[in-house]
Amino acid sequence: MSQDNTSELSKLWSHEPHTHLKFRPGDKVSEINAEATPGFTGSKSDAPALAAERGERFAGLQEMLYANSRSGDHRSVLLVLQGMDTAGKGGIVKHVVGAGNPQGIQYTSFGKPTPEELSHHYLWRINKALPSAGHIGVFDRSHYEDVLIVRVHNLVPPDVWGARYDEINAFERELVDTGTTIVKVAMFVSLDEQKQRLTDRLERPDKYWKYNPADVDERLKWPLYQEAYQAMLDKTSTDYAPWHIVPCNRKWYSRLAVLELLIEALKSLDLSWPPAEFDVEAEKKRLASA
Ligand code: AMP
Ligand code: MG
Repeated sequence: MSQDNTSELSKLWSHEPHTHLKFRPGDKVSEINAEATPGFTGSKSDAPALAAERGERFAGLQEMLYANSRSGDHRSVLLVLQGMDTAGKGGIVKHVVGAGNPQGIQYTSFGKPTPEELSHHYLWRINKALPSAGHIGVFDRSHYEDVLIVRVHNLVPPDVWGARYDEINAFERELVDTGTTIVKVAMFVSLDEQKQRLTDRLERPDKYWKYNPADVDERLKWPLYQEAYQAMLDKTSTDYAPWHIVPCNRKWYSRLAVLELLIEALKSLDLSWPPAEFDVEAEKKRLASA
């Protein structure tokens, strides 16, 4: 583990999620065990304390990113969350990203495109939502819907969606080159667990709002989605913007894993507190007599 993970709690990771969960050529979606907790040696009961400790670490780094942008650093981070319904994207936003300061977060969820969005190139709405300097952008679904649901439902012809993988790679290359660190998370929940979670939504009036009858139709297309997810991972996992495969049947695990992915992305920026742009001693004196 890296040197900042010195507490007893952080030693609960035997392997760092950013390397251990990274998609490798040949990895098969059909072989993902959504129940698993790869790299984690602790148990669910360890999660609350670890999440609190690492949440603070995340918040500190996030603030440093933001602080640097005030003195001209243009860098940003973009978290891309993709997963089938009930995978827990909302929970990541609430519990993981929520550990940070809302001031520095730019959250966007991408649903079915509006007529206006449809009249533009599919990256139009994505471009508008990119994080500005010092911010962490969070995409709850993303441009990858344009090679997932669009492919599964034939919303555009195959040659059109087929050209998008290279286009997305070029788009992300440009983003990385201009200072955005991209963290791509593919969240996998098993079909059984998804059924359980959808059932829960139907049994609880406070969850009806999360239920969409169309989720059942998408569920029935799981084999086609598996193919679409496989193609997405095979074709758009690059060295500059790799995918991470996160098993999501255990919410406490997926949240801890994504938290580590974000921390690692921020650490890779090698941030420090920006120096004062004024004479600190002179200001102390001036203030003392003000
Ligand atoms: P939810 O995230 O549960 O609010 O659902 C949003 C829905 O919008 C999902 O079924 C997505 O697959 C769908 N969606 C997102 N982006 C697109 C897109 N580009 N084209 C068609 N459907 C989309
Ligand atoms: Mg939904």
